[in-house]
Amino acid sequence: MDKMIYADNAATTAMSERAAKAMLPYLTQIFGNPSSLHTVGQIAKEELEKARASVARSLGCEPREIYFTSGGSEADNQAIRSAAETGAGKGKKHIITTAFEHHAVLHTLKKLEKEGFEVTYLPVGSYGYVTAEQVKQAIRPSTALVTVMYANNEVGTIQPIAEIAEVCRAAGVTFHTDAVQAVGHIPVDVKAAGVDMLSLSAHKFHGPKGIGALYCRRGVPLRTFIEGGAQERGKRAGTENVGAAVAMAVALEDAVSGLTENAAKLVKMRDRIIDGLLKIPHSRLNGGRENRLPGNVNMCFEGIEGESLLLLLNEKGICASSGSACTSGSLDPSHVLLALGLPHEVAHGSLRLSFSESNTEEDADAILKAVPEVVEYLRSISPVWDDLVKGRRKHLI
Ligand SMILES: *Cc1c(COP(=O)(O)O)cnc(C)c1O
Repeated sequence: MDKMIYADNAATTAMSERAAKAMLPYLTQIFGNPSSLHTVGQIAKEELEKARASVARSLGCEPREIYFTSGGSEADNQAIRSAAETGAGKGKKHIITTAFEHHAVLHTLKKLEKEGFEVTYLPVGSYGYVTAEQVKQAIRPSTALVTVMYANNEVGTIQPIAEIAEVCRAAGVTFHTDAVQAVGHIPVDVKAAGVDMLSLSAHKFHGPKGIGALYCRRGVPLRTFIEGGAQERGKRAGTENVGAAVAMAVALEDAVSGLTENAAKLVKMRDRIIDGLLKIPHSRLNGGRENRLPGNVNMCFEGIEGESLLLLLNEKGICASSGSACTSGSLDPSHVLLALGLPHEVAHGSLRLSFSESNTEEDADAILKAVPEVVEYLRSISPVWDDLVKGRRKHLI
């Protein structure tokens, strides 16, 4: 894996040295079960609670408002299921979300639809934003929950979360946000944002995989998600992953303390890459430029397949990702790009580059050289591009 340029940080990040070092003792020495009454257990319990307090500090809330989970997907599932059950108890079975949420949210909602809930999917416009006004218009007396992501994982657009929270608060509707792409990357203060529930995941900010958290504001009912022991105040059973929680806390502290400096550096790199790649004819930037995650670039190149682009970039030592994720075995283009109104054939030729502070200007140079070369090559062998050039097919971008 030498000399690979890793530009897929929205998928996952490398664990930081400090987080890894913090985690190590928990694999061997500090192995106690926090539920045990003896000293070995109680030491683990103390460290777990210190980690909870640290995560709470980083987010601006109280430790008792933090529930550790196995990651972002679980936090999303728990938040949505809990609010749905609470709503149903009061006869409220309507939920509002956006068309381009992460599948952890969308698939949970699809399931709830089968269970008799009605879901409104707000359109996100061609630039990838929803407005508080849209949410306000969609709220009904039967609305149990609004769930809108803080920042989109594919196109990086940041939503007006505080404004949406205000609309929800005024209407007395629970508001959850999937902040997995936001936490550690842009300032997130749960009290200032005014959200009721918020999901985060450690591996998106240089913490370990398999750990995340759900912030649930005091007073907002939270249902038990995993039945069993009384861990996480009875809301999520299972022996706690103490080392991972400790490492997540460390990674989050570092991400928050370095945020301003890293974001400035990333925005510079991002904008340079966007401007450079837009010079490729018939290319477009997906998602708006304003209110965009510092490390996110998402482009479409007409006449090519995202898959081929990825494979050839990989051969050149560049790890990126495509919206037309065929990892699921489906050939459908990304639901996010379709939600932005892109035609299927254009959405197929997408490229997501997502950077972290460990990327360098040399990485950017290499990308700015490799992508145009690969796009040109793929177009030279593309029958679709040939049709476009010969006028047998109309350019869409
Ligand atoms: C990665 C991601 C998730 C899932 O988090 P896991 O910890 O991998 O389960 C959920 N939502 C968004 C927006 C993500 O980017």
